[in-house]
Amino acid sequence: MDQPKPTASITWDENGQPISSQFDDVYFSKNSGIDETRFVFLHHNHLPERWQHLSAGSVFTIAETGFGTGLNFLAAWQMWRDHAPANATLHFISVEKFPLNRDDLERTLSLWPELKEIAQLLLAQYPPVDARGFHRLNFGSVQLTLIYADAIAGFSQLLAIENPGPEVQRRSCGFSQYARANCVDAWFLDGFAPAKNPDLWTDDLFQLFAKLSHTDTTFATFTAAGIVRRGLAAVGFTVEKVPGYGSKREMLRGIFSAAPAVETAKGKYDPSWHLVEASEGSVKEVAVIGAGMAGCHTAWALAQKGVRVALIEQFEPGAGASGNPLGIVYAKLSHTAGTLADFNLRAYLYACRFYHAQGLFPAIGDACGVLQLPEHGEHETQLKQIAEIFARSPELARWLDKDEASAFAGVPLNSGALLLPQSGWLQPQQLCHALTRHPNIRVISGARVNRLAQTESGWDLWSDAEQPIASADAVVIACAFSAKEIEQTSYLPLKKIRGQISLAEANAQSAQLKTVLCGDGYIAPAINGQHCAGASFVLHSEETAPSWNEHQENLANAAALSPALADLSVTEINHGRTSFRCTTPDYLPIVGPVADAEAMKEQFAPLRRDAKTTIDSPGSYHPSLFVNVGHGSRGLAYTPLCAELLASLIANHPLPLPRDLIQALHPARFLIRDLGRNRI
Ligand code: SAM
Repeated sequence: MDQPKPTASITWDENGQPISSQFDDVYFSKNSGIDETRFVFLHHNHLPERWQHLSAGSVFTIAETGFGTGLNFLAAWQMWRDHAPANATLHFISVEKFPLNRDDLERTLSLWPELKEIAQLLLAQYPPVDARGFHRLNFGSVQLTLIYADAIAGFSQLLAIENPGPEVQRRSCGFSQYARANCVDAWFLDGFAPAKNPDLWTDDLFQLFAKLSHTDTTFATFTAAGIVRRGLAAVGFTVEKVPGYGSKREMLRGIFSAAPAVETAKGKYDPSWHLVEASEGSVKEVAVIGAGMAGCHTAWALAQKGVRVALIEQFEPGAGASGNPLGIVYAKLSHTAGTLADFNLRAYLYACRFYHAQGLFPAIGDACGVLQLPEHGEHETQLKQIAEIFARSPELARWLDKDEASAFAGVPLNSGALLLPQSGWLQPQQLCHALTRHPNIRVISGARVNRLAQTESGWDLWSDAEQPIASADAVVIACAFSAKEIEQTSYLPLKKIRGQISLAEANAQSAQLKTVLCGDGYIAPAINGQHCAGASFVLHSEETAPSWNEHQENLANAAALSPALADLSVTEINHGRTSFRCTTPDYLPIVGPVADAEAMKEQFAPLRRDAKTTIDSPGSYHPSLFVNVGHGSRGLAYTPLCAELLASLIANHPLPLPRDLIQALHPARFLIRDLGRNRI
């Protein structure tokens, strides 16, 4: 089981300002924290001047060591609003090893009434302190990537490959879409004084700064310590000493002026099969195939980044597996660490933030909470372990004993349960419609794409008609298992699993249910006198008609959760709906660039003999062709983050996930694995 993770340990001085007891140091100047921030970090990175000259649609990226109280972030956000063009985007990436808990953060931020409005927005999305790793918080033209990790571990996940060979290093930011997306324009080097926190200010960290910088990247830091000055100079920054803020005699500022001169190659390079050669020019128009949840979220995320989208759907938005009357925002948290658990946690938190921030809870659903009941004794132990892992984050998950859980549910339950308080149900079809109502999205319904043809400037999308349905700079295939029917994605190992939901008439007892219950299946509170219960799980079936057996199975699963749900019935066979989940062999979705499967097999053929061979070249990918499929039964939870990942990749914004997870979702992963096992 995961060990408890470190959080900030705070005491308060006589003026109500926070002091770190771990580091015996202040978070900001005792005189005026906000003025110090403006002077040291904003002014000495020349931000107002640089922002005024940004062109429309540009992206500016700040990276910071030590998010702390978020003061630097909020001060930058405030200044961005005053100086940057309206359609530019500020990305603020910050690492924090010891996050403040929400109460301490709120108490600190109340020190600056002028920041109140944006501080409230930050507090509403602030991730639980126990959820380590990457979190993307979306505030419109300002995006925060908050990484709860040690600075080195966190920043190194922004690199496309951790230990690039000389060729990759030399070509630096232009080599891959990933690396380019992660270039930093200005560094805020905070993180407590080197004398108090020597573990932070190391050569490894300075080297990371260099790897993530480009010519013209600036830095500013409150400290003038020799170790920082020499460390930054050694990796290629021109360092200048200037007068510090208030009583501080000196501080440092500077600019990255060298070609990356850092030593990186340690004999063996990281595999680079996932890297894509950078394409020329920016993407202005994208065609997204499939207007289910994956496609609609992708279209929305692209549209928000200023990209025009043609969203093409053979039926109408939300008609396929996304057409169920109700779905649960649900992810599988785990008592053990692992890639699937890590992705689920990140996706779930992102989805909850998204639906709350966009007002979709409560507009088209209800954040009534989800109670997960144990399916057997050992499962109960595991659910309790999950609650322990998140013990300091009850807003994320907590264990309720049988009486507490029954009171929360409004009906007697057969056991205690794990509560996910921020979750609930949404109407997927309404969601699809809400997401597509965007000025940058044009929906083309009733058109089935069956062929993609590459053109000089992008792709033509063809149906059986004589003219292409659309042309675009880039294409995203988001049509679940129908991706198998498009030649370029036919290699993907997608599986169909039939699922049926049942609409059962509520009775006096069941009508008291006020939260979603999950066990072997799930059941939601009654809406208009009907409960939605689901969903059966049938392999190897293409049958679309509802079955009585599966209605009975859904009702039996609900009855096992509470005696109040024992007498439910479905009165007509067609009081339900069947659809097909699109799943993958490792249960992770497939998100990213589409591999040219035949070229990859040839290029990476040596893996057949030795799976550990490192082939130090990028993979072969169809230019500007992407895929977002395989969300199984977790579309509501998975698709918002996957869409954000893909849109960031396409629009060349910093990515919302660490390199490890990007590779875990990568569309070429099965080819590489199968070559390594000599299966293809
Ligand atoms: N920028 C912050 C603000 O606006 O409030 C103040 C930062 S405070 C001076 C330094 C922060 O660096 C603390 O929150 C501390 O927990 C964090 N920190 C210290 N060592 C770290 C490390 N190795 N990795 C990541 N964060 C670290």
